[in-house]
Amino acid sequence: MDIEVLALLTNMVGADRVSAAEADRLLHGRDQSSHAPHLPDAVVWPHTTAEVSAILKLANERRIPIVGWGAGSSLEGNPIPVQGGIVVDFQQMNRILAVHAADFQAVVQPGIFYKDMNKILGQQGLFFAPDPGANASIGGMIANNAAGTRTVKYGATRDNVLALEVVLANGEIIRTGSRSVKQSAGYDLTHLIIGSEGTLALVTEATLKLAPLPEHFSAVLATFESTAVAAAAVYQIIGSGLGPAALELLDAAAVSYMNMDESINLPVAPTLLMEFHGATAETLQTELRLVQEICLDGGAAHFSAGVGRAERDRLWHGRHQLGEILFRAHPNEMYLITDVAVPISRYPELAAYTADLINQMSFRGALFGHAGDGNLHTVIFTPEASRERDLHRFNDQVVQKALQLDGTCTGEHGVGIGKQKYMVHEHGEAALGLMRQIKQLLDPHGIMNPGKVLG
Ligand SMILES: Cc1cc2nc3c(=O)[nH]c(=O)nc-3n(C[C@H](O)[C@H](O)[C@H](O)COP(=O)(O)OP(=O)(O)OC[C@H]3O[C@@H](n4cnc5c(N)ncnc54)[C@H](O)[C@@H]3O)c2cc1C
Repeated sequence: MDIEVLALLTNMVGADRVSAAEADRLLHGRDQSSHAPHLPDAVVWPHTTAEVSAILKLANERRIPIVGWGAGSSLEGNPIPVQGGIVVDFQQMNRILAVHAADFQAVVQPGIFYKDMNKILGQQGLFFAPDPGANASIGGMIANNAAGTRTVKYGATRDNVLALEVVLANGEIIRTGSRSVKQSAGYDLTHLIIGSEGTLALVTEATLKLAPLPEHFSAVLATFESTAVAAAAVYQIIGSGLGPAALELLDAAAVSYMNMDESINLPVAPTLLMEFHGATAETLQTELRLVQEICLDGGAAHFSAGVGRAERDRLWHGRHQLGEILFRAHPNEMYLITDVAVPISRYPELAAYTADLINQMSFRGALFGHAGDGNLHTVIFTPEASRERDLHRFNDQVVQKALQLDGTCTGEHGVGIGKQKYMVHEHGEAALGLMRQIKQLLDPHGIMNPGKVLG
């Protein structure tokens, strides 16, 4: 990086919070996806919004690419600085600025990791519900509109953010939204920024909606003879008006991988892993009886409810570990992660199609997903370098199927690098053109996370 730019950055934040050292650049050159790494020229760790503003002003004047960084846990290359430039790592802007417990809200800086935040909020009986498996930062979750196991009840990140402070490409600081849960005043800039993957602005503060920790809850397990039959039961459960707090589909292979964690010992079969919350023990019992009936009518071979706290925590720990276990089980192999989502009535068709395709193409890996909101993942591996094109062909076919079923190429991981090729097909030229105009308006010099979302 230009020595003069490094000196200016050092003047802004101090020498201990700017680095062009190879080790720091390597740490900020890749995420958890299979996309090729690319190193930034420098990394900066701001402490204040004013510092972020000064960094952006400089980058805008000098046309230097700027990439926000949370935990680097993305799965679609979202934070990889493909054109180099400056990575703005928010890990030291990680404070809870206010908790409005009476309103179920917290105001936080973007670098706080949601698991750490929830430990603190839990002391007041509150939590932030969206939960991607990895310990992501709030800024990264906002930028990717992350979701997770609890989205079926509480919504994605987008549904749980009320207001933002953001810094635009030219360094201007703006506030969007308010603390009111109802807002109807003009264009919704908060939700324009959420899911924009750092391509429109950097988030420096967020007002989050919180939920009370449930008093009565139960994990539920049901196994089925095939993935297709389990997916059909998902539709029955949601269609019956039951309100699961989590509803996850796991094929038999996914269960086998989970069992590699020595604390987990589940029967190896296509499984629905669910959780129900109740305002009282009685309402919880009523829901559990109903879900049992639906599962058994829907062909469940085995059903167990009323799983206690320790067992429930163990199961969810196992589910959240699944991604890591998969990667550990296939070191040095090529892999690909899919993230399609469809309307719930089309979920059984999507799951059956994808399960067949894995078999037809003889990939190793697992099929699983946040089934309650129509989201299906596959992680497939191959040790053969010659099969790289097949991995992409698999993704193309799964995405095409999801779009045919009125769904989307990405339910929660974002467009990043790998999904740009599907954007025209999903949105059409006119809508994509409008997105390009919005990008041009907010970031005329194209410095904000270039090479992402719109290419
Ligand atoms: C094992 C595993 C399981 C996962 N499971 C899920 C899951 O269930 N659901 C899910 O949604 N995701 C999941 N993910 C993906 C990942 O955790 C999410 O995408 C998460 O939102 C990324 O957050 P991060 O802090 O790591 O952000 P990063 O990866 O660091 O960055 C993500 C994006 O945000 C931008 N960014 C970062 N900070 C800011 C900021 N302050 N302002 C503007 N832009 C910023 C970056 O430039 C980048 O485009 C999983 C990942 C792993 C490794």
